[in-house]
Amino acid sequence: MARILVTSALPYINGVKHLGNLVGSMLPACAYARFMRARGHEVLYICATDEHGTPAELAAAKAGQPVRVYCAEMHETQKRLGAGFRLSFDYFGRSSSDRNKALTQHFAKKLSEAGLIEEISTRQVYSPADGRFLPDRYVEGTCPNCGYDKARGDQCENCTKQLDPVDLIDPRSAISGATDLEVRETKHLFLRQSKMKARLAEWIESKTDWPLLTTSIAKKWLYDGDGLQDRGITRDLDWGVPVKRGDEDWPGMEGKVFYVWFDAPIEYIGATAEWADANGLDEAAWRRWWRTDEGADDVRYVEFMAKDNIPFHTLSFPATLMGSGEPWKLVDFIKGFNWLTYEGGKFSTSQGRGVFMDQALEIMPSDYWRWWLLANAPESADSDFTWAAFQTGVNKDLADVLGNFVSRVTKFCRSKFGEQVPEGGAYGPEEAALAAELDTRLAAAAKAMEAVEIRRAAQEIRGAWVAGNEYLQRAAPWAVFKEDPARAAAQVRCGLNLVRLYAIVSRPFLPDASDAMFAALGLDPETESRWPDGAQAALSALPPGHAFTVPENLFRKIDDAERSDLEARFAGAG
Ligand SMILES: [Zn+2]
Repeated sequence: MARILVTSALPYINGVKHLGNLVGSMLPACAYARFMRARGHEVLYICATDEHGTPAELAAAKAGQPVRVYCAEMHETQKRLGAGFRLSFDYFGRSSSDRNKALTQHFAKKLSEAGLIEEISTRQVYSPADGRFLPDRYVEGTCPNCGYDKARGDQCENCTKQLDPVDLIDPRSAISGATDLEVRETKHLFLRQSKMKARLAEWIESKTDWPLLTTSIAKKWLYDGDGLQDRGITRDLDWGVPVKRGDEDWPGMEGKVFYVWFDAPIEYIGATAEWADANGLDEAAWRRWWRTDEGADDVRYVEFMAKDNIPFHTLSFPATLMGSGEPWKLVDFIKGFNWLTYEGGKFSTSQGRGVFMDQALEIMPSDYWRWWLLANAPESADSDFTWAAFQTGVNKDLADVLGNFVSRVTKFCRSKFGEQVPEGGAYGPEEAALAAELDTRLAAAAKAMEAVEIRRAAQEIRGAWVAGNEYLQRAAPWAVFKEDPARAAAQVRCGLNLVRLYAIVSRPFLPDASDAMFAALGLDPETESRWPDGAQAALSALPPGHAFTVPENLFRKIDDAERSDLEARFAGAG
């Protein structure tokens, strides 16, 4: 038994996430964690909302709420939607927690002591009317490049040019509209990543088993241009972790907070401590996952994220951990994802284009989404969500293959043998051939999951469903029953055991359907969902006489009219 720590990139707090966000981190991490639990490993799957930073303040202002209240409510919303998608977090924390605050301030102190933090004076826009420095996004004005009059201080939305707030023509405060802005000197802390470059490079180069997507992005940031740059880790904001050295004040840093990109990954550790607190466990309980001197040296740590998060997880967060000089656990494997597009374009919150997590659950049960998204995860390239592809996946894979199999076997058995596993007859060469094919499929699925190749694993699981259907079609117990009821009984017994096997191996992808199959067989998923050692034994797990009930149809089909309605509804205003 191994110990496996799983984290998925923290969803940002400023709204409900869309399907692309879901499949780019949390959903594959959940399937991986579920699979590893089924293999008997000790798994801890941690996630949290990422709550600090300017966009949270702006979203709260737009909602007319204090940012603390907004974040607390949106955290509950995201937590509820995660539960709706059966995301199997061991803990879903908050980066605004006291735990994360203390850890972030602790790391800053250690980095400072190691000479890895530099104080640099910068010139920044100050608004006397607002009584504060304005972060980039809080300054609006006319773009010097294209003349667009609502350009933000970090970027012009119209021509996409990256801007500095002092570049803007006729700048004004996005908070108050004040135009009497000044440029003042202010001090900020920089993490001296450049000093860590050799050590980070050596570490990245040693990761020969990482996906190319992950290492290529890390190397680009390490080597391109002038190489790895020092990074500002403080901001002039109210909402965030106050800049302190441990629990001591940091002279000159009053009123400043750590930049969200510094404190967010530390929350992986913070949320693990929150998990221990929530479960009444001691300090050692969470530290054994994170401190290699306190038990974490045998932990395998796997991170999931979309590709835009890779630089921070391959370089900045490791720089924080290594630079502290303390024995913190570093990631062992980073799984990066490309983008999920929506009907050939981008998901857009502002234009209402694409499907968001709350809407998805109103339309279909979570298993339908889980299956399609995981089976089409954007691993080696971007994937495109289309309603036509979704309809095909649900109807063909789920309804026609898995759902149909379960329905046929249980209904046929009920009509001929009653609601219990029939006795009589014996397995022969056909069942042996089926077991051999299942062994091949399930070994391939397990190998793919170990390697975090989610699409391939889904294909193999589907292959195992198809093998069962083909077996049933060849065996044709409904025809055999007339001549040789004992042989038909053996075939049906094999089919009912397949339902149990499917409940186990489909569970990482389809937890609700798995629950329904286990319930129909009168089995407890808690004790029965251990990944099988071999198909032959699994096909004899349910003894003759074991009672079952015929489940409701596991999946319904999506017809063309419904698909057209959904296409129109989510096409967006733009
Ligand atoms: Zn512009």
